[in-house]
Amino acid sequence: MNLALWQRPAMPLPFSVRPVRGETTSSYLFRLARTNELVVPTTLLRALGEPSVSLDQYMLRDHEEIMLNSAAQQRLACFAGMPLERLRRSLPLPALAGTRASSSPRTAIQIISSLVRGHCASCCARIPGNPPIQIYFAQSSIICRRHRRWLGTRYERVQIDLSGSPEILTAYRRRDRLFRAEENQHWVDTQFAAAQAITTAWSRITDSFYHTPLLRRWEARSGVLASATQVPIPPSLVMMPETVIIAEAICDPVWRHQVATAEHYFQQRNFYAHMVEQLRLRRTTAYAFSAYNDPLRDWVERHRLQHRSTYTVRSATPHRKSAARSRDSQ
Ligand SMILES: [Zn+2]
Repeated sequence: MNLALWQRPAMPLPFSVRPVRGETTSSYLFRLARTNELVVPTTLLRALGEPSVSLDQYMLRDHEEIMLNSAAQQRLACFAGMPLERLRRSLPLPALAGTRASSSPRTAIQIISSLVRGHCASCCARIPGNPPIQIYFAQSSIICRRHRRWLGTRYERVQIDLSGSPEILTAYRRRDRLFRAEENQHWVDTQFAAAQAITTAWSRITDSFYHTPLLRRWEARSGVLASATQVPIPPSLVMMPETVIIAEAICDPVWRHQVATAEHYFQQRNFYAHMVEQLRLRRTTAYAFSAYNDPLRDWVERHRLQHRSTYTVRSATPHRKSAARSRDSQ
């Protein structure tokens, strides 16, 4: 009887390949096949399990992922020459649903273009053969610290050398710290989006004496980045140091409490002065930030409206620990 490849026993291939953290199953599978010089790389895919579509008429592309049921995952680990647990520590290995009961190995193909990006080009260049490697956004950092490279987002699929912009690298370190400090990642994400909305709105104010230093700073930073790359520079990257400064303040439980209960300007004054100082701007800029048409004042007003009743009058002086964010975690 002529057995299909997936029906034959799996055995370790001569050369093993170290998986990259966050790598897609398909990226890893084809690297393993090419390293072992399989003339038709899909041979390895055929050997993993029974495919849900005929692979004879199917051409696999970069943005397609291979889903494996648990029996097929075991076979992949066997071909890779390492325990499944070790593979799992690096690869997300999305499971093929609905086949749990089946003990026979099965594979399926799914489009995942919005979930993945290319691995750091400098990291790939260090791997023999400079292979293309696809990484899940959710399982990886946006910066390669070793190569000081920005690796892109879902919307800005470019890689940019940050070695000439240490302030952006520092900003990303502070951003990571902010996310690590908070359990509710969605909440920090929301605050970050609010901070980014403020810097973006500032970048559109072109006729203000007070905002000009920020615009000049962003132009200069953009110029440094542009000199190192041919690709368009995303504005969010250029403004990241200022966005992080705002995000840190608006995530801070003490500032949140103070701003939410500050009805009059003299009560809000400290907040604007703090922002101006952190942003290294002229002290008089605090007046511009407190003007009703300014994006920062706009955030203050919205925060007050949303949260002024959240805080009770019991504690006149908020303490960092007692001012738990859970009370205004919206
Ligand atoms: Zn790298």
